[in-house]
Amino acid sequence: MEHIDVAVIGGGQSGLAAAQALLRERLQPVVLEASERAAGSWPRYYDNLTLFSPARYSSLPGMPFPGGDPDRYPHRDEVIAYLTAYAARLDADVRTRSRVTAVRADGPGFVVELEGGGRLAARAVVAASGTFGRPHRPGLPGLERFTGAVLHAADYRRPEPFAGQRVVVVGAGNSAVQIAAELAAVAQVTLASRHPVKFARQRILGRDLHFWLKRIGLDTAPLGRLVRTPPTQLVIDDGHYRAAVADGAPDRRELFTDAEGSKVTWADGSAEAVDTILLATGYRPDLPYLASLGALDGTGHPLHRDGASSVRPGLAFTGLEWQRSLSSNSLRGVGRDAARAARRLAAHLSST
Ligand SMILES: Cc1cc2nc3c(=O)[nH]c(=O)nc-3n(C[C@H](O)[C@H](O)[C@H](O)COP(=O)(O)OP(=O)(O)OC[C@H]3O[C@@H](n4cnc5c(N)ncnc54)[C@H](O)[C@@H]3O)c2cc1C
Repeated sequence: MEHIDVAVIGGGQSGLAAAQALLRERLQPVVLEASERAAGSWPRYYDNLTLFSPARYSSLPGMPFPGGDPDRYPHRDEVIAYLTAYAARLDADVRTRSRVTAVRADGPGFVVELEGGGRLAARAVVAASGTFGRPHRPGLPGLERFTGAVLHAADYRRPEPFAGQRVVVVGAGNSAVQIAAELAAVAQVTLASRHPVKFARQRILGRDLHFWLKRIGLDTAPLGRLVRTPPTQLVIDDGHYRAAVADGAPDRRELFTDAEGSKVTWADGSAEAVDTILLATGYRPDLPYLASLGALDGTGHPLHRDGASSVRPGLAFTGLEWQRSLSSNSLRGVGRDAARAARRLAAHLSST
């Protein structure tokens, strides 16, 4: 069996930031990425996605986001190119088409099992596999009796296949509003949610919101330990989405109260035929390979403190929502948590 220093599971921004930080601690990471490229889930996000963080606030440590205007909002494909270049520049062993199926305890270290039967002995493990592989599908009234199409935002790419349809997008976060507004150009769309949509202004006093988050310290304040349930996501908006909702394209309604056959029933009792229900209801940490270690709670969330496993020394996480702060699962914030995790792992390994 091959022996390695640190197995980093996931080759997206969180795994690459972890690898960069581990190298700085003079550890040798091996990045294990399930897909055929090290760009995380970005290639699978919808086609028209542009970042809500400007280029200047969308970099990993050691390599600024390229391109002329640092205040522009880069397109998804620019992020893919950026991460691919970042991975290529890292002096780390990045192994694509390497899906981890299980991590098991082995003395003070770990055995990492790969799809296809490969095994690695690792002194430490960083779990950086994101959330996109585990879309959250909440139980909704009557959904199991609805005979139309039901899909998750994770499956959504572009509006054209929905042209002429009656679509209900469930959710009130950024993805829900962006997808509903985009679909409303070709379909009749309702944005349905239990709570009203809350908008945050993209620009305040001539500066992007991210400038202010940094300036007032909210971006990095270590509030993660206090956040049990992540607060309702604010929809970052330059005014475009608020206006679209005000114009009824999409229209906004309370979540339907029932569904049956091809129809949904609204709170006022009216029933209406719907072609597609699209769930923009978020994601959960995708860590099934840690189950046998006892490192997860009953809902599959990792048991951790500031990204260090509270169950198993030598196991760390990067890229969790509110891992340490508001920016923990963003391009601009993950590097800070990765540096912290790498320092801790280096200290742990030097003491074992
Ligand atoms: C629609 C949308 C818009 C966003 N906009 C912004 C923005 O503007 N600015 C910003 O900073 N952030 C943004 N984010 C948030 C965040 O930056 C991304 O979600 C980011 O992709 C998370 O990176 P990650 O590396 O943690 O996870 P991912 O990108 O999901 O990468 C995880 C990787 O792990 C791999 N993997 C999973 N399981 C295994 C396994 N068992 N073995 C091996 N490999 C595995 C996957 O193939 C994947 O490549 C956005 C997110 C979404 C969904």
